[in-house]
Amino acid sequence: MPEIRQDPLSSRWVIFAEDRERRPNEYRLARHHRHASQCPFCAGHEADTPPPIAQYGRDGRQALGPVQTHEDWLVRVVPNKFPALVGHDHAADDAERTRPVPPCHPGRPRDLYQQRPAIGSHEVVVESPRHVASLTELSHDEAMLTLRAYRDRLRHLRQVHTLRYALVFKNVGPAAGASLEHAHSQIAATPILPVELQRELSAAETSYAMHGECLFCRMLEQELAEERRLVATSADGIAFCPFASRTPYETWVLPRQHASHFEDQSLEQLADLARFLPQVLERLERLHPRLAYNFFLHTAPFDTLPLHHYHWHIEIIPRLTTAAGFEWGTGLFINPVLPENAARTLRD
Ligand SMILES: [Zn+2]
Ligand SMILES: [Zn+2]
Ligand SMILES: [Zn+2]
Repeated sequence: MPEIRQDPLSSRWVIFAEDRERRPNEYRLARHHRHASQCPFCAGHEADTPPPIAQYGRDGRQALGPVQTHEDWLVRVVPNKFPALVGHDHAADDAERTRPVPPCHPGRPRDLYQQRPAIGSHEVVVESPRHVASLTELSHDEAMLTLRAYRDRLRHLRQVHTLRYALVFKNVGPAAGASLEHAHSQIAATPILPVELQRELSAAETSYAMHGECLFCRMLEQELAEERRLVATSADGIAFCPFASRTPYETWVLPRQHASHFEDQSLEQLADLARFLPQVLERLERLHPRLAYNFFLHTAPFDTLPLHHYHWHIEIIPRLTTAAGFEWGTGLFINPVLPENAARTLRD
């Protein structure tokens, strides 16, 4: 079973999942292998993944249960074959929302080292039955159902009492850590609140206490007023290069209307995002064809009610530079492109 350990110096948690060494890596075998014959995520290869947790059909309806024929699904959610976190029993999902948990050894308070089983879940959202590589190649229905899948899975996972957080993320291209090319995202639910989130939450809380307004809402107002770092806007969303971008062309996507939990978004809001997000990514890809990037969705922890001070957002991190010794040693980033210049290039 994977194990999670905390570094006493930095409070950083590390998941040890030795099984993941055995993951297939199609990039290692061949560059850009854009054919469906061996891809486990392509239509016709449903049996190559574990049974689905959820599937969404052409009519937009969600179906659970046995594998359907390939004409039936547009988006499917399957357990990760090489999970970093395990123990959340998908087969029991329908029967019960909370289930017995293997014994936990959080360590006594005086112990130097904290460790516990890495209980959680690790799911894959297959975004299309066709072998496409990017979110920008999805149909509107596929993009919409992908976001629906995020929302539905977050709504489900937040009811599991052992889980505190779930990160929705995407690795695109080998430089971003992807092992398969077929468009997919991942949802990793953890029994702890990751340090990055803890940091954002406490900064947002402090700022709210000082200004009586959400830090993200203030940022959004300022970016709309200044326009220098603005990349694009939609009816419900805004995209900009953050003031202290870590990498060239780092881009954040936020809803204009304050909301702390992504899973509370309406279908209309998701439909707007399903159009807007590919448009933003398209600007990045136009600049760098086959761009490698990571994106992740930061939303409020499961055990919170709607928060005044936190605002969900998507962070897109293009992998054009590599974090090296200085970044590892200091946590400081060196970025060769000012966000004002990056945003101008992306706008034009
Ligand atoms: Zn494929
Ligand atoms: Zn806000
Ligand atoms: Zn964030």
